[in-house]
Amino acid sequence: MTAGGKRLLPSPPAEGVTRKAIAGGRISEAEALALFESGDLIQAGRAAAALRQRRAPAGRVTFVIDRNINYTNYCITGCDFCAFHRRLGSPEGFLLSRREIFDKIEETIALGGTGIMMQGGLHPDLDIEYFCDLFHAIKQNYDIYIHSLSPPEIYHIAKVSRIPVEEALLHLKQAGLDSLPGGGAEILVDAVRRRVSPRKIGSSVWLEVMRAAHLAGLKGTATMMFGGVETYADRIEHLRRIRELQDETGGFTAFIPWTFQDARTRLRGQASSSGIDYLMTVAVSRIYLDNIANVQASWVTQGLKVAQISLAFGANDLGSTMIEENVVAAAGVSYHAGKEELVHAIKAAGLQPVQRDNAYNFVDFY
Ligand code: SF4
Repeated sequence: MTAGGKRLLPSPPAEGVTRKAIAGGRISEAEALALFESGDLIQAGRAAAALRQRRAPAGRVTFVIDRNINYTNYCITGCDFCAFHRRLGSPEGFLLSRREIFDKIEETIALGGTGIMMQGGLHPDLDIEYFCDLFHAIKQNYDIYIHSLSPPEIYHIAKVSRIPVEEALLHLKQAGLDSLPGGGAEILVDAVRRRVSPRKIGSSVWLEVMRAAHLAGLKGTATMMFGGVETYADRIEHLRRIRELQDETGGFTAFIPWTFQDARTRLRGQASSSGIDYLMTVAVSRIYLDNIANVQASWVTQGLKVAQISLAFGANDLGSTMIEENVVAAAGVSYHAGKEELVHAIKAAGLQPVQRDNAYNFVDFY
């Protein structure tokens, strides 16, 4: 078995690492690297599945009905891997009106949705007042969970508004923000970030914003975009920094690894992740991140079949039904799955589908 095309045969260290993890030990970075380099997908998958079962007993696999609302694609950052953004003034750019946002929320609620995830480009004119007014109005009109604004957006809003990040977070929380998506993490290694998103916030700033959010009482998810220009060691450094912050704050609800999609981006031709590499990364994430309850499969980038298989490699959550998804679609990848398809995929894997909300409370069993 190979992972990342590295080796053909399993190497013995993988066994020792997985045995340690199953016995409740915390694996080191060197052990996580050994697991990756062993290429022993079955060994890693078995251990990850056992750990998943402990974290999510009774074979429960969760999913959420919510909607991405990309409020603008205007962005001053222009990351090389991003096919979604447009320069200010571009005829293909948009900024949704409040009415358009409300219409999308109403459609979400009509479809049984419990939350929205608002994310957008870094627009130079949208400040703290804009977002506080918007969130306040949303909460006044709808019973909906607001899981919105990733760390680069929070940092940008604070900067545009000339206030500290901590103050921005408090205002946003008071206005109705419930939690933060972990977008913009990519790989939390600056040498990698300099290649894929040189104008975006650095790794320490991403972690500082998340730390401040957690301390302000806002939980968040952590993501990792891999399969581009990074090494296994870079992925492990990313995991190390997430695990360390989680030890400190306990503020991460889930870890979401997903693969870089290069079509229609300036990094075309550099996406390198295979299905096997994806499954191995899910498994290593589950094994290494012993302090994060949920590992989410990315059917949006992998398709539902690989996402379903990842449930046997440590994932316990299928994420959102994605009533709307624009960012990955802009990069040329377009998978669709409604509630029925997610429920079917989970049941067909012999597991129990459970609808959750964005705070990971159970909403319904199927
Ligand atoms: S990834 Fe986000 S910050 Fe980077 S160009 Fe796209 S919208 Fe802008």
